[in-house]
Amino acid sequence: MANGYNGKILHVNLTSGQMSVEEPDDAFYRKYMGGSAMAMHYLLNDIPAGVDPLGPDNVLVLALSVVTGTAISGQSRMTAAAKSPLTGAIGDSQGGGFFPAELKFAGFDAIVIKGKAEKPVYLWINEGSYELRDAAHLWGKITGEAERYIKKELGDNKVEVLQIGPAGEKGVRFAGIFSMSNRANGRTGMGAVMGSKNLKAVVVRGKKRPDVADKEGLRKLAKWGVTHLKDSGIAGLGKFGTAETTGANQVLGTLPTYNYNSGVFDKWEAIDGTTMYDTVLKGAAEGKQDRIGRDTCYACTVRCKRVVEITEGKYKVDPKYGGPEYETTSTFGNYCAVDDLAAISKANELCNKYGMDTISCGATISWAFEAFNEGKLTLDDTDGLDLTWGNA
Ligand code: SF4
Repeated sequence: MANGYNGKILHVNLTSGQMSVEEPDDAFYRKYMGGSAMAMHYLLNDIPAGVDPLGPDNVLVLALSVVTGTAISGQSRMTAAAKSPLTGAIGDSQGGGFFPAELKFAGFDAIVIKGKAEKPVYLWINEGSYELRDAAHLWGKITGEAERYIKKELGDNKVEVLQIGPAGEKGVRFAGIFSMSNRANGRTGMGAVMGSKNLKAVVVRGKKRPDVADKEGLRKLAKWGVTHLKDSGIAGLGKFGTAETTGANQVLGTLPTYNYNSGVFDKWEAIDGTTMYDTVLKGAAEGKQDRIGRDTCYACTVRCKRVVEITEGKYKVDPKYGGPEYETTSTFGNYCAVDDLAAISKANELCNKYGMDTISCGATISWAFEAFNEGKLTLDDTDGLDLTWGNA
């Protein structure tokens, strides 16, 4: 088997409960490699024409890349793909965290999921073995709670849990799939597809590290990255997160504002990455945010993930649910002309708790803001909610 891969794809039929392991040859891996390309192979071959995206015949693929699980920055990513209930076309969404690497360690390069379970289940993959377990007691639970239950049930705090929230269970068309309760395969409604299959979660644990052709070369490269990061162009991404790009978009006139009727937001500095770093990141008040207000994905030295904690005021925010990316500050912020970082962080927390894509959710809300401000929606329509631009 080529380096980097396990040489194993797990096939799960939730209707019959049958599971099997495919062991493709090297030619397959050379052709489809992993991630979206490998996922498309299964989608195009296995999904019947005209399939209902939320029906049992849709196929959900979770696929890793050749480098996932190696000890170098940026590799712990996973594609989730299926026919999208949001667009009716191919849905394809990437997410990070520790789940992708752990799935590789657990012995598989991809999971192909078909059918629909009779009752809610979760898939437990442990060191190459796999089983479907009852998830009736987890159905309806928010992500943080479900994750806690699963870890307790399996007696292992180090399992990685990829799951849907109540939004995915209820078929919200922009529901995502989440790990760590704050890392999202957010786009194109993959959480709704998973929910339509009665699959609450995929839980993984493993210790098998992928083989690498030149271990020493990779180690040197990773070390070079650590040494040069602080002087590189991505040092700011690590320190200020993806919301660092808010100012650049403002300058370019590409900061979507008023539901993208404008490309500039005069209050952008209130919600950009620097302000987030200085105010709402966990530990910011004591100057400890670099240590406790930033998080990472497996083996990544960049540490761009945000951890927001707000303990006082109108919007308290639980750090378990992470912090907003640029796309989130953008859709809940400038799209809606909202300059309140605490409110935006709360919206991010709620989306991660209930399992919704922050981009589609925020953009939909900004559409409602525009309709309200144009007089197309009234207070009667919104049950008294005042959607005047900027009202958080
Ligand atoms: S910490 Fe940031 S840069 Fe590193 S893998 Fe995760 S998302 Fe990518």
